[in-house]
Amino acid sequence: MSVSAGKVPGHVSLVGLTRDELKDKLLAIGVAEREARMRVAQLWHWIYFRGAQGFDEMTNVGKSLRASLSEAYTLSRPEVVSEQVSKDGTRKWLIRMPSTGPLDKGAEIECVYIPETDRGTLCVSSQVGCTLTCSFCHTGTQRLVRNLTSAEIVAQLVVARDRLGDWPDATPPEGAFVPNDGSRFVSNIVFMGMGEPLYNIGDVVNAIDVMSDGEGLTLSRRRITVSTSGVVPQMERLGAEANTMLAISLHAVRDELRDELVPINRKYDIKQLLDACRAYPGLSNARRITFEYVMLKGVNDSDADARELVRLLKGIPAKINLIPFNPWPGSKYECSDWERIERFSEIVYRAGYASPVRTPRGRDILAACGQLKSETEKLRARARMMAEQGIGAEGVYAVGTGE
Ligand code: SAH
Ligand code: SF4
Repeated sequence: MSVSAGKVPGHVSLVGLTRDELKDKLLAIGVAEREARMRVAQLWHWIYFRGAQGFDEMTNVGKSLRASLSEAYTLSRPEVVSEQVSKDGTRKWLIRMPSTGPLDKGAEIECVYIPETDRGTLCVSSQVGCTLTCSFCHTGTQRLVRNLTSAEIVAQLVVARDRLGDWPDATPPEGAFVPNDGSRFVSNIVFMGMGEPLYNIGDVVNAIDVMSDGEGLTLSRRRITVSTSGVVPQMERLGAEANTMLAISLHAVRDELRDELVPINRKYDIKQLLDACRAYPGLSNARRITFEYVMLKGVNDSDADARELVRLLKGIPAKINLIPFNPWPGSKYECSDWERIERFSEIVYRAGYASPVRTPRGRDILAACGQLKSETEKLRARARMMAEQGIGAEGVYAVGTGE
């Protein structure tokens, strides 16, 4: 039994770290600078390619280094507080991050996995809560907000691979959807869980570097989508440094309404946002920006809105995703009627855009609204805090990630 697999109080886990961070950890335990690069490559392979849970698995690392590593560090993962599996294979995990200090009980975030025939999408969070206050989104009502570290973002993928048995020598859990073409269970990542990724851009970029590294987790950057409510000044940096696919939470076609629905619009209006979209690198018909549009009854769902949407996006390689609104307790909106959504979608389709309205996934485990069932008021309050936000919306409709 490896000690490193378990939790050693006060010991730092190496899981989720970047190459530079791993190197620092090695130097800190006395590994010589000239040796460090090679050792980082070894650790990288074991942690991110094989999914090692203990240092004693690392057979090509000398015994004494293994001992020093397990004295100082662990390979522990954040704790999975609960797992719910839907009839349709969607899985939702409530993940507790280790406490960062005496006042921190350990932030909790949700992560949702949606298997489809041609892909498996993991919806990850970039922050605990969100400082923005989009009027239809429940995350915005959560008071506690902090950025996740890049390691905590990467750890969501590692946890998903653990739970899905998605490592070279692991066995998938019973009943798991197993891709029959030899591909990975998690082929796509969407940053559509909690938080505004572009307010945590440094850690998001680092996390994407780790996730897409060809010698480790090997997710293609083209299969990673970052969704933003429109933090215009950071979009260029995202394009330059992460080069992922981009999704924009548009939701309204007039500034007056978008100011209300997505208040960051008061800072960066629709024109500035779309100009930044046009400047996003690498766009082509095969590489389009996804525009998310939540369907709110009587608010943004008229024929005129649909036509204006088409007009606005002219010239931008775009996909449009219509998201049925996910109501939450106390929310002031309703989801548009089905006929309205169909009509809206038809106008968009006739203009040449695919506009999928996907079948909701994971309804039976409330993956759609992020609400975890719980008996106690405390848990219910927490569930409310995490409910009905990005995970529910984008994660569940599994959109924006390639054709
Ligand atoms: N903060 C980022 C990413 C997380 S939200 C952003 O806003 O883009 C992911 C998506 O879910 C966004 O398009 C968001 O507007 C949408 N969303 C949030 N709450 C929703 C709800 N109750 N119903 C439907 N979609 C929702
Ligand atoms: Fe934050 Fe996105 Fe929700 Fe707006 S929609 S409050 S930006 S998580």
